[in-house]
Amino acid sequence: MSRTMMAAFLPGNSTVELKTVPVPVPGHGEVLIEVKASTICGSDIRAIYHEHLGKGPEGYQGVIAGHEPSGQIVETGPGCRRFETGDRVIVYHISGCGVCNDCRRGYMISCTSAEYRRAYGWQRDGGMAEYLLAEEKDLILLPDSLTYLDGAQVACGFGTVYEALQKVGINGDDAVLITGLGPVGLAAGALCRKMGAEKIIGIDIFAERRDIALRLNLCDSVFTAGSDNVEQVRGLTGGHGVERAIDCSANAEARATAIRATRKWGKMVMVGEGGSVTFNPSPDIIHDQKTIYGSWVTSTWLMEELVERLVRWNLHPEDIVTHRFPLEQADEAYELMSSGSCGKVAVCPGAE
Ligand SMILES: [Zn+2]
Ligand SMILES: [Zn+2]
Repeated sequence: MSRTMMAAFLPGNSTVELKTVPVPVPGHGEVLIEVKASTICGSDIRAIYHEHLGKGPEGYQGVIAGHEPSGQIVETGPGCRRFETGDRVIVYHISGCGVCNDCRRGYMISCTSAEYRRAYGWQRDGGMAEYLLAEEKDLILLPDSLTYLDGAQVACGFGTVYEALQKVGINGDDAVLITGLGPVGLAAGALCRKMGAEKIIGIDIFAERRDIALRLNLCDSVFTAGSDNVEQVRGLTGGHGVERAIDCSANAEARATAIRATRKWGKMVMVGEGGSVTFNPSPDIIHDQKTIYGSWVTSTWLMEELVERLVRWNLHPEDIVTHRFPLEQADEAYELMSSGSCGKVAVCPGAE
């Protein structure tokens, strides 16, 4: 193994900087992973790529980018208890302290330790490199029947959606509305389909994304985002609205649509990050007995459960990856993702 590697950094001016850096050496409880797939997230674009907007858990500290990696362990440090060289793994994208209440629940995303909570690609080196140093406790085993591109999307994208859908519950009674058909919204369609939703309706401004949703059969009907969306959704649901809605857009109008297009006694969950929303509590939720949830990322135990389900369902998150780039062309990959005219965009270090 060469002792230096190529790695991508995000200086915050809508470019990617490739640098040669040392290959890290795993310490106690750590592993070195050869990165096979590293997908780009909407939050990378929103909070880091154009400019460094994030604070606290979203504060980018100039590290190697990428928080959606999957790869193979090539070296283990002393004290590892479960994983070994050769294991294919997914990395939960936030490394928590491991001992606060949130970490003990498996929600390292919500770790309360200011000193030890560090997200990959934000406060500690991430997956846009040939190798990644990770803590063993952050790893989920990737089954042989799933690809590395499947694995890269389990933590942040599909995991985030799976968590949100567990909160509201999805079954065969439900018509579901998905506002925002970026990679997270497409993941919502894929999971709702497998969970048996009776009807899946999607809304997005981009034709490319609506087309992907229909082509992959992730939505039954799609609409262009607009002021008549609530009536359109009611038109497909006997005038009632949907039993469940999930907002993956973070757009104020789309969120209001999701709330208003949810029927009486229905449940709506917000996953898309940032932005705001305006609605009128009495007519929009109180009088119709609706519930609004917030759901932030996922937990390690639900990620393990999701991986098991993906195998059982023969569901491959890789299917929503529309573009792949070698690490040398990471610049193009981020530029495309920021344009929105795509599904999921992946960087595959080592690819030709
Ligand atoms: Zn992400
Ligand atoms: Zn913690």
